Amino acid sequence: MALTSVWRDRHPVPPPAPADVSGEWDVVVVGAGITGLTTAALLARAGRSVLVLEARHVGAGTTGGSTAKVSVQQGTQFSKIARRHPISVLRKYADANVEALAWVERFCADHDVAVQHRSAYTYATTTSGVRSVRSELEALHRAGVEKATWVDDLPLPFRVRGAVMVPDQLQLDPLDLLDALAADARAHGATIVAGARVHRVHGGHGQAPYDVVTDVGSVGAGTVVLATNMPILDRGAFFARAKPSRSYGLAFRTTEQAVDGMYLSADAPTRSLRDTPAPDGEGSLLLVGGDGHKTGAATSERSHLDGLREWTLGHYPGVVETHAWSAQDYVPHHALPWVGPILPGADRLLVAGGYSKWGMTNGVAAALALAGRSLGGHQEWAAAFDPWSSRELAGLPESARLNASVAVELTTGWLRPLLALGSGTVDEGAGEVRLDRVGTPTAVCRVDGVEHAVSAVCSHLGGIVRWNDAERSWDCPLHGSRFAPEGQVLEGPATCGLRRR
Ligand SMILES: Cc1cc2nc3c(=O)[nH]c(=O)nc-3n(C[C@H](O)[C@H](O)[C@H](O)COP(=O)(O)OP(=O)(O)OC[C@H]3O[C@@H](n4cnc5c(N)ncnc54)[C@H](O)[C@@H]3O)c2cc1C
Repeated sequence: MALTSVWRDRHPVPPPAPADVSGEWDVVVVGAGITGLTTAALLARAGRSVLVLEARHVGAGTTGGSTAKVSVQQGTQFSKIARRHPISVLRKYADANVEALAWVERFCADHDVAVQHRSAYTYATTTSGVRSVRSELEALHRAGVEKATWVDDLPLPFRVRGAVMVPDQLQLDPLDLLDALAADARAHGATIVAGARVHRVHGGHGQAPYDVVTDVGSVGAGTVVLATNMPILDRGAFFARAKPSRSYGLAFRTTEQAVDGMYLSADAPTRSLRDTPAPDGEGSLLLVGGDGHKTGAATSERSHLDGLREWTLGHYPGVVETHAWSAQDYVPHHALPWVGPILPGADRLLVAGGYSKWGMTNGVAAALALAGRSLGGHQEWAAAFDPWSSRELAGLPESARLNASVAVELTTGWLRPLLALGSGTVDEGAGEVRLDRVGTPTAVCRVDGVEHAVSAVCSHLGGIVRWNDAERSWDCPLHGSRFAPEGQVLEGPATCGLRRR
């Protein structure tokens, strides 16, 4: 079964029209996920001329593979932030997420986007999980989220030792939301071009416009917003501040609603649960997510998906699987998203990302902050997301230390093909990296009976890609760039594909 999220299946993408871009724009937004489209809608409403450049199609990135809980209750995120940052920053983070949740709720009500109100829970199944959840409750209270409470029992088919609960959060179909945001942006004059991958951004000296170079033309921009999840430009080295983390999603048809809330385990491996109405109005679907790992670092991605599947069938026997998929997000070492200039002082070249798998509120908060910044507004909480605050800079030595493992991976990645001197055919659905006749690492795989050979050297920063046996892709363990068997970029900071051999 090809991996497709339940949302993408519900929102088929029409064949792409030939793209072509030109002209001068007040704002060019790169990326049509929740961050890019919310930013575009806000700035278009304010009368700015806005162009959105999307490499693939609306929702092609993480947003289209999200479990789409729109929630201030975020696993153990608040206690992670509380351990690293002062209480003032924690409070700002909470304010940002509360405001973003309210914004999504209002936008959905105004634009007929279906949402379901649910309580959100982080639950523990072990004694150490209980300690984490207790800390989370304390952190939520310190952050000002007073309605967070302790719950002893949950209506789940396995033993839970307690949970923290925040009532009245939202869940939705993220592509319903993106479609409505895109329609709203267009209705206010924005242009959205799919199939336009941005390769470079240069110029912008003084008040001169930026030159945004895509594979289908170049445009001028007063301001550029890189809403590509991980910024595609290496200035600012955001790739070194975060870990790319891939996780899995499964949908199951159930005869009646299987869960009445949005649940997330505090214990590893992560288990995420929510429901969604079945598209045909017949019953509902149970969505199960989790089992995450660093991108490109699993021995077998398929085994993670199988583990999640087995766990679900053990606890919910009789459910029927309808969809399986995978997606990735970036988890900053320092726990807070980055929203602001790509480099100190570069006030017209902006980035947003690093949401630690909580982008349905943080992506909207980022857009509110970016739009506020462009329009001269001010959100006090936006300071928590400043990528160049002294607090963030103080975290860079820790990022450097954590990058030691990236350096090790870079070296071992180049050594590994020396041990794999294979030259025969690879099995269907398999891939391996080997040295070609002149000693360069080559990634060889077989998909649907066709063998593909491409350079195994990631076009981003030279890592050696690894085969992903669940999605049949080449994934770079350094910074999460991913490539199709034929070498095209799928996601991540790379802007060029792997060269064909
Ligand atoms: C499995 C999983 C479950 C999650 N569940 C939740 C949840 O329940 N609640 C929650 O709040 N968050 C959740 N998240 C996190 C959330 O989905 C993401 O943080 C959020 O969707 C990121 O949105 P974005 O717009 O920043 O990025 P994306 O949605 O990835 O959008 C970026 C866009 O940029 C485009 N792009 C990339 N490079 C280029 C280029 N060079 N030129 C042009 N376009 C380009 C991509 O094609 C893509 O469409 C989850 C994440 C994962 C992985």
